[in-house]
This record gives sequence, structure tokens and C-alpha cells, in this order.
Amino acid sequence: MPTFQTPRAGERMIAVEEAQERVLAEVQPLGVERVTFTDALGRVLREDVRATADVPHGDNTAMDGYAVRAEDIANAPVSLRVIEDLPAGTVAAKRVEPGTAIRIMTGALLPEGADTVAHVEITDAGSDSVKVFESLRRGTNVRKRGEDMCAGDIVLAGGIPIHSAEVGVLASVQKVIVGVGRRPSVAILSTGDEIIDVGDAMTRGKVVNSNSYSLAARVCEAGAIPRMVGIIADTPEATVAAIESGLESDFVISSGGVSVGAYDFVKDALDTLGAETKFWQVAMKPGKPVVLSRVRGRLYFGLPGNPVSCMVSFHLFISPAIRKAMGQSTNLLPPIVQTRVVVPLKSRGDRRNYMRVRVVARDGELISQPMVSQGSGVSTSMVQANGLVVVESGITAVEAGSMVQTVLVGPVQS
Ligand code: AMP
Ligand code: MG
Repeated sequence: MPTFQTPRAGERMIAVEEAQERVLAEVQPLGVERVTFTDALGRVLREDVRATADVPHGDNTAMDGYAVRAEDIANAPVSLRVIEDLPAGTVAAKRVEPGTAIRIMTGALLPEGADTVAHVEITDAGSDSVKVFESLRRGTNVRKRGEDMCAGDIVLAGGIPIHSAEVGVLASVQKVIVGVGRRPSVAILSTGDEIIDVGDAMTRGKVVNSNSYSLAARVCEAGAIPRMVGIIADTPEATVAAIESGLESDFVISSGGVSVGAYDFVKDALDTLGAETKFWQVAMKPGKPVVLSRVRGRLYFGLPGNPVSCMVSFHLFISPAIRKAMGQSTNLLPPIVQTRVVVPLKSRGDRRNYMRVRVVARDGELISQPMVSQGSGVSTSMVQANGLVVVESGITAVEAGSMVQTVLVGPVQS
């Protein structure tokens, strides 16, 4: 009969921050791929992108109205002769001379001679002549050439994630083919004799494999490509074989089998494969047993089997690793904000506790509503949760209304 697992010489439980540092120290950015900018959403930009021309490429109007000379309307109300009509995209044939105006639509280039646009709301909207009722400061309603970007400027720096705004800027500078980081492939395996797959008949004592699927979904959300390796029996041989097949991917994640149980074979299997363990236990709850190992050049993350522990350790350690592998250069760790907790919190105080909460923006501040059940097996508690309130080791109670450190693991809504 196998015995309980014990720490190897030199292994000690480390703090979350140290574990995150060790993870990031092990990850190098993967290679660069060239993709069409419309496929770049969710990728990381790996080159500096410069503007090739001024945007806008000339002074133009921000409003529908009349291109005028500010000095002509200084003594408003005044009437001006309308000498031309200028839809957006057309260029004036005439010049605005003293006493004249050109009717102009938003976006059209400002005609020669004009320095100001009288928006239609302060005029009588006339066609042959226009009455302007108010004076304006020179330059009012004019967007200056290069106001958005100037030719040669770096408008997007390499190392940033590409969101919708970045796609817009890529389009603006006509950067059709763009260098982005390769997406890491991530092998996912779930250990446990009790685990059955989705669709298998349930029998007493079994647990449906949810970790593989939620991990795969989180891998996708982080921008990487999951590869399902399957469910691994709790034997040393099966564990070694599964880890080996995972090594075809850039990263390997397993769930379960890393605790101190007699049938937790992941650590033994890693030893058999000659892996170099970077850490085994992290001072946190949920998720104390978390393995980081280097196996034949690949990075191996052994996460605990409890679904919540698995997810919390994914956010704290694996998302940052995926971001770095894709080439993101800053802001790799999940953001930490101060939130006001609405109910009292209790914690054992033996380790730093990450408590699942729903963070909402209300009355100008962030409010944390703790999930009713904080058990590490309660996967439904992750459904609404977008934050993890940090209750430090040694703290056993937090009063309602206190401000608390909160790790954001999802978008905040109102
Ligand atoms: P372990 O870390 O292997 O001791 O597993 C702890 C507990 O996590 C198990 O008793 C299961 O209830 C649960 N668990 C392990 N693997 C999975 C999985 N793939 N999907 C859902 N729950 C799991
Ligand atoms: Mg197990």
C-alpha cells in the first residue's frame, strides 16, 4: 500500500508573490507570427507600430456648419455669403474670403482662408447666405492635422495585448499584417481514479471531470490553445505516461494528485521523469499544493484537484505565464484593487485566504459581495465570482464595511 507523501529535502512552502516570481522567471516569450490585423484581437503585439502619415491628414471640421474666418463673425450676428457646399471627403475649390463662408459637413477638410467652423446650431442654416448669431474663438470646431497621430510616431508599442481600440489604430495606420506572439499550446490532464468523463454513467463515489473543461476554457480566455490529454488513473505508470504525452505542448497543466495523499502520484512521476521542482507548496488557501516543475524543457503546473483551488491557482500562476509567453511585457499579474466588503468575513488565519467575491461598482466605489459557500469543492461559487478578497494569515475576522485587498479575476460590472 502506498504511503502518504512527505516534502523532499530543501522543499518549503513559499509565499504567493515568490511563487509568481518563480513562475514568471521560468517563462520566455514564444516566437512571433504574422497575422492579418483583423485576426489580431486577443493576441499580443510583438512589434512597434508607427503612423505612416498624419491622422487626420489635414485640418478638418468636427461639426456640421460653416467654415468661416473668426474675425468675420467677431461682431455677430452677421450675414456671410455662402460660396460653396462641402460634403465630407470633398475638397473645396474656393477659398474663404472676407465676408464669405463655405457650408461644410463633419470630417471635411477645412478650406483655405477659413480658421473656424460656426456649427449649424448657432446659424440660421441658410443656403445662399448664412446668418451667424454668435462669435467664436479662432480654431473652434477645428480638428488639427496630426491631432490623433503624427507620421513616424510609435502609436502602439510592442508587448501590449490587442483589444478593440488597438485593432482600430492598426486599421487607421493601414497596418494590415502585424507581428503577434504565438499562442502557447497547453496540455490539460486530470488525475484521479474517482474521475469520470462527461457523458459517462455516474456510479457511487465517482466525480465528473469538470476541471479539464473549465481549465480549457480559461486557457482559451487567456489567449492560449488547450489540448485535452484526458483522465489519468492514480498509478505511477499512468501518471508518467500522461505527463510525457503532455510534453508535446508548451505548458502542461494537471489537476489533482499533488497533495499529500497516498495516491497522489504527480510528484513521484515528475521525479521519475527527472523534473526540476521549482516549488510544491504555496502559503495560500485554497490551493496549497501547487507544483511548478521544469520537465524536459517544458513548464509543468500541477494544480490541486478541488475545482476552486484549481481555478484560483490558475488565475494566480498560469494566466500570468500565458501572458508572458505570448509576449506581454507589463501587467502580467491580475490587478489588485481595494474593495469594501459588505458582510463580515471569517478565516482560519493559518494561511492567506483567497475568498471568492462578486465585485460590483456602486455609488462610486467597488463593493465585494462574498459567495455564500467558500468550500474549495464548490465550483458554483466561481460562477458569479470576479474577485478574490485577500485575508492575510493571522487574521481571523474582517468587519463588514472594511476596505480589503481584492484580486480581480474577471470584468467588473455595475
Ligand atoms: P486531489 O487533489 O487529487 O486530492 O483531488 C481533490 C478532490 O478534487 C477530489 O476528491 C475530487 O472531488 C476533486 N477533483 C479532482 N479532480 C477533479 C476533476 N477533474 N474535476 C472535478 N473535480 C475533481
Ligand atoms: Mg486525486
